[in-house]
Amino acid sequence: MPQQGADVNGQRLLETTAALCRIPSPTGFTRAATDFVASRFDALGLEVRRTIKGSLVVELPGGDRGAGHRTLSAHIDTLGAMVKEIKPNGRLKLIRIGGYDWATIEGEYCTVHTAPGTAGPSGITGTILTTKASFHIHAQALVDLRRDGDSLEVRLDAAVRTAEEVKALGVAVGDFVSFDPRTVLTEDGFLKSRHLDDKAAVAILLEVACAVVEGGAPLTAPTHLYVSTFEEVGHGSSAGLPVGTTELVAIDMAAVGDGQTSDEFAVTVCVKDSSGPYDHGLSRHLVDIAVEHGIDCRVDIYPTYASDVSQALRAGYDVRGALVGPGVDASHSFERLHRRSLEETTRLLLAYLGSPPGR
Ligand SMILES: [Zn+2]
Repeated sequence: MPQQGADVNGQRLLETTAALCRIPSPTGFTRAATDFVASRFDALGLEVRRTIKGSLVVELPGGDRGAGHRTLSAHIDTLGAMVKEIKPNGRLKLIRIGGYDWATIEGEYCTVHTAPGTAGPSGITGTILTTKASFHIHAQALVDLRRDGDSLEVRLDAAVRTAEEVKALGVAVGDFVSFDPRTVLTEDGFLKSRHLDDKAAVAILLEVACAVVEGGAPLTAPTHLYVSTFEEVGHGSSAGLPVGTTELVAIDMAAVGDGQTSDEFAVTVCVKDSSGPYDHGLSRHLVDIAVEHGIDCRVDIYPTYASDVSQALRAGYDVRGALVGPGVDASHSFERLHRRSLEETTRLLLAYLGSPPGR
């Protein structure tokens, strides 16, 4: 089915998502990632503004100035951790940033981002293991062990046996810890990686910008892109939304799994999550547009979920909010998506941006 003004480059979407996934950006430590995104907007000739707390805001060219403004948001921050404690034996205790199960980081390679001028710009690598990791020593105790902040620790890739030796490397309580995303693109168009939530959506924002600036995709209303940096901890788009925003559409991953309609090959409009129902009219409008344009779109509900829209509404913004996103399997765990869900989400957004405002 032909797509109006929607020249979507699926391979570029995959590659941009993969590039973003490889840049460490746990919540609170997002500067390198926002710099990367800002440089991509800059290359399109778009002026990038940073809010005081670090979100990126870009206005796309075009749109009828008399219409209410539309803002698309996506978050660049991801799950991660911080050094909570340096143990006497030189291992590190972690505290989580964002919501995930401890078991999903067991065995993962990680990087401790030490202060500039200490261990070098790339930090110190390590592995997250249980305190009873050796099967030959602990056997049944390892099987029975509950995975939590006390039973998991970081083994640094450095010749250290004491807390003093670790501190001498420059490692300190409060250092950010990022997880190896293990980003892999397969020949069949799957992208396996940590942090597809929500790097995939940031890549989609960049593709939308490209389609408007280079492809001439039409805008009917003034349109802004907003890249938030604190979504995983609950206050992503709670401040600094573009003035005049009346419709806020969060782009965030659709949860694929038992009992869900979402899947890895489609876009989903989420009509309700833990924060309540999204705007009925705007959600309906998005679903209608998908039908009109032959876009594979699902409607779903996420029982344990909130978004940039939830956070903006809780902060007091008077906007109509909707949530759409590409299907991601095994969210906040070993995530995977398919190129088609990136394409379908981008097509839906471009069709929305070209649709009459206030419908
Ligand atoms: Zn998310």
